[in-house]
Amino acid sequence: MTEQVFNSQTVEEAPFSVQTWEREALSHFKALLRIPTVNPPGNERPAAAYIAGVLEASGIATTILESAPQRANLIARLEGDGSAKPLLLAGHTDVVPVDREHWKHDPFGAVEADGHIWARGALDMKNMVAMSMMVLLRLKAEGVRLARDVIFCAVADEEEGCRYGSRFLVDEHPEKVRAEYMIGEVGGFTMYVNGVTLYPIQVAEKGRVKLRMIARGEPGHGSMPKRDSAVIRLAEAVEKVGKSRLPQHNTPIVEAFLSKLADTQKLPVGMILKLLTQPQVSNLLLDKVIPKGLAATFYALLHNTASPTILQAGVKLNVIPSEATCLLDGRLLPGFSGADLVRELRAVTGDAVEFIIDEEAPAVVNPYHTDLYRLIERKIRQHDGAGIPIPYMIPGFTDACQFSRLGTVCYGFSPLQLPKDADYTFSQLFHGHNERVPVEGFLWGLRVLYDTIKTFCQAG
Ligand SMILES: [Zn+2]
Repeated sequence: MTEQVFNSQTVEEAPFSVQTWEREALSHFKALLRIPTVNPPGNERPAAAYIAGVLEASGIATTILESAPQRANLIARLEGDGSAKPLLLAGHTDVVPVDREHWKHDPFGAVEADGHIWARGALDMKNMVAMSMMVLLRLKAEGVRLARDVIFCAVADEEEGCRYGSRFLVDEHPEKVRAEYMIGEVGGFTMYVNGVTLYPIQVAEKGRVKLRMIARGEPGHGSMPKRDSAVIRLAEAVEKVGKSRLPQHNTPIVEAFLSKLADTQKLPVGMILKLLTQPQVSNLLLDKVIPKGLAATFYALLHNTASPTILQAGVKLNVIPSEATCLLDGRLLPGFSGADLVRELRAVTGDAVEFIIDEEAPAVVNPYHTDLYRLIERKIRQHDGAGIPIPYMIPGFTDACQFSRLGTVCYGFSPLQLPKDADYTFSQLFHGHNERVPVEGFLWGLRVLYDTIKTFCQAG
């Protein structure tokens, strides 16, 4: 290799080398991980500036849009010939906080050890941010003629609800991120189920509703207890909500997921998965047969849910308050509204409490019989002979809930290959201690993503 001279002419003429590209991907990935973007407060500006520096050095123009001081969103676009509509690669640069004492390595050190890169954000989701940036660089370096624009956006604030990131972009700058398809989190990682290699592709996410459950009662002096005070009534209602099961609803996406998953499994697992759609037996299976962690996921996929998370009542020890409130984190299946969930909750609590809906957003379900989805399936099979792609719905939400408001079809596909003998699973590391990705698995993902994007977006 000759030494690189930073003159755009020379950069463009330098022959493209896959090894160099992969080496640079790792180094940019680590650099991003070393920028602490813990949200709250976020501080995504340095990460956006870093990406801008890398892209601009290769002649790719970037725009940084700040929604608030230090809350930076970066956008870059490679133009196609306009014969097809744009594709958006989206990743968030903020990360969730860490409990340092539980980490084996510095969570912001991007230490490479045991074949892995260890850092907060390694799989949620600076890996995808780095990969998307590298995809743009390679498309440009190889001079790929594009039919559709490839837009890359690195957004702020996904972890705290998208307000300063994707929601801001969709509300304030829709023309900059409008696309036919979006590719982002959460999906494309390896999941081993009884020796079968699966790659879940996120095509749907549940909706959410912020609820207040309020109990009222006669106030009084703390020296004379009341059996029906607001606090007691609320406590009874919280217990009922916590211990009851809401009605089961089978939605087409979950039925497809369970049936495809069942088809990969031998008896009796395959049979158990199929029976989960039968409300008469599914509670029994979830309680007694399916391991606890997995049961919680399946429960969330089959029901509207409400988790009591914040309790509010009383300001003085000797005063029995007249009002007590519990905030409920409600999650909605496709096709259901906050009012539907309230109806289901009221059937459990009775009329002792009042429900107020403060905010709600519906579930997002994307069609998955599209050209892009079929291509993703094909690319996974090509790059991992044992891999079986499977469409699924996450119980949480991602930036897809915002981008889909523009009519964009959103898939969670941030390819990452995890080793078969790993002593962790993807979901354990997601927001968990010792978040890490295997170096080889990251590079695998980079190749899969590039191959997919190039195939889908190139002209002719
Ligand atoms: Zn994420």
